[in-house]
Amino acid sequence: MAASKYLTGDPSAIDAFLDKFDTFLIDCDGVLWSGDHVFDGIPETIKLLQSKGKRTVFVTNNSTKSRKEYFAKLSSKGIPCQVEDIFGSSYSAAIYISRILKLEPPRNKVFVLGEAGIEAELESEGIPYIGGTDPAYRKLGMEPADFAGIADGSSLDPDVGVVLAGLDFHVNYYKLAHAHGYLRGNHIKDAKNAKNGGKAVFLATNIDSTLPMYHSFFPGAGSASIVALSNMTGDQPLALGKPSQAMMDAVEGKFHLDRTRTCMIGDRLNTDIQFGVEGHLGGTLAVLTGVNKKEDWERTDAPAVPAYYVDGLADLRGASN
Ligand SMILES: [Mg+2]
Repeated sequence: MAASKYLTGDPSAIDAFLDKFDTFLIDCDGVLWSGDHVFDGIPETIKLLQSKGKRTVFVTNNSTKSRKEYFAKLSSKGIPCQVEDIFGSSYSAAIYISRILKLEPPRNKVFVLGEAGIEAELESEGIPYIGGTDPAYRKLGMEPADFAGIADGSSLDPDVGVVLAGLDFHVNYYKLAHAHGYLRGNHIKDAKNAKNGGKAVFLATNIDSTLPMYHSFFPGAGSASIVALSNMTGDQPLALGKPSQAMMDAVEGKFHLDRTRTCMIGDRLNTDIQFGVEGHLGGTLAVLTGVNKKEDWERTDAPAVPAYYVDGLADLRGASN
């Protein structure tokens, strides 16, 4: 495989890079910011790309915020964008449930293990749900009646057809036990004769192992809840965030991309860069302000190797400063 081309401080290489693409799919955490801290020069860089007629689409696996909340955050940081230019894993999951799964009512309800961002996107697609931020599920500890009700299904909702797991800052045993009950089909009376044994479809917004925040790392959706459910059931969820090509198809469908003229920019090899490589985009650009470093893609077992890299996204201003 060809070595990744380093663009920082090389104006002619940056110009040649920018000329190759019309659209940039840009990851947010670890690329634009770390938590609430926006990296230096980011708003100016996005403005520069847009002034050159490039389309900038923000593609994030973080499911805790809806597109509207991302729009508010990007705008408050001086990064020019429109709600339509934001594509999150919650939105991707909602689109998948409503337009691909197309569950027949009444068994079309979603049990949510996640935050308000997921709920907002399910609502935008008209999908009924339970769980999520409902305080009733933020209960600590289990009583005998809780075990009994989940075991015989009497405290479960028979209309649940999907368990959707994302990053949940309030994950607890009580919620996990409910999700597990739905994934086992405990809530379906005649489970033996039901489709797939009555088991709810297991979906994940994303399976990122860590969440970069405040110049450090915290447990990601994959680590905080999804690995627990996978371990209980022995099944892996269908993940709708990067690197899932279901998300790429949805992005392409929405923005009518020419993949050969599109570049994915991100900090993580096994989500962002793999997403771009497997999606046969014209290029991928790694930034070193987040999760992965150069030595990570130089390993023989690297999940994906970027075509280009810069120290930070703002280095793309190099050609035009
Ligand atoms: Mg990232």
